[in-house]
Amino acid sequence: MPELPEVEIVRRGLERHIVGRTIDTVQPLHPRALRRHLAGPDDFVAATAGRKITGALRRGKYLWLPVGDDALLAHLGMSGQLLVGDPCRPLTPHVRVRITFTDSGPDLRFSDQRTFGHLSLAPGGAVLPAPIAHIAPDPLEPAFDLAAVRARIRARRTGIKRALLDQSLVSGIGNIYADEALWRAQIHWAREAQLLRPAQINRLFASVQQVFAESLSAGGTTFDSLYVNVNGQSGYFERSLNVYGRAGFPCPRCGTPVRRDPFMNRSAFSCPRCQPRPRARP
Ligand SMILES: [Zn+2]
Repeated sequence: MPELPEVEIVRRGLERHIVGRTIDTVQPLHPRALRRHLAGPDDFVAATAGRKITGALRRGKYLWLPVGDDALLAHLGMSGQLLVGDPCRPLTPHVRVRITFTDSGPDLRFSDQRTFGHLSLAPGGAVLPAPIAHIAPDPLEPAFDLAAVRARIRARRTGIKRALLDQSLVSGIGNIYADEALWRAQIHWAREAQLLRPAQINRLFASVQQVFAESLSAGGTTFDSLYVNVNGQSGYFERSLNVYGRAGFPCPRCGTPVRRDPFMNRSAFSCPRCQPRPRARP
């Protein structure tokens, strides 16, 4: 599943290869890819043809391409890929939507094996599409306001990892980056958000930004080998993870075996020594 740095890499690829070009035709190849476009695939095709793409923007894991006042909104889901390439290359089985351009240059293909991803046209959504207006800014956006987020986190009676994953508080932090940032900041995932000191929350977000920055400079990472970036090159990057997926391996900081706990039907990885578990409340 692509995480925020991978989606940012895709956004940069779209900015380089797609912005400034005018859509010629849109070919829907699978109805599920357009299920969020409630007016149906025919409307999507009619509403997008002939429109010029003027930008490539992102909030959390959503991407949007402004076309006039509207926006072409995309979410990659679990396995989605946006592929730019020679328009004559053969269609692979998982391509769900193909977009060609009036300049007859490279086309854009939305490929998605597991079909959790989707495209839609958001009317009036060029600045911020309505379907994602409730999503909070992510830590890589200029609009991210650390002081405001810190105040909202400290108002929560919830574990800090759960707060980090809450897209209405801060977007774009998934399970992998939450665990890595908490390890770096030496904070246990179950610590109560409202009991953290402001300095600890500052350290935690500095850690979030560091792990994102490292991932971005390495070209994105994911554990899903299905994910390919906008040029069709693999976005799979074997980053040196410190705790995520490393139960039983030594903590790179202190050598204590990393611990895995069940967490919201998934897992939380932490170092029992660097990130001591909070004491249970009496
Ligand atoms: Zn440790």
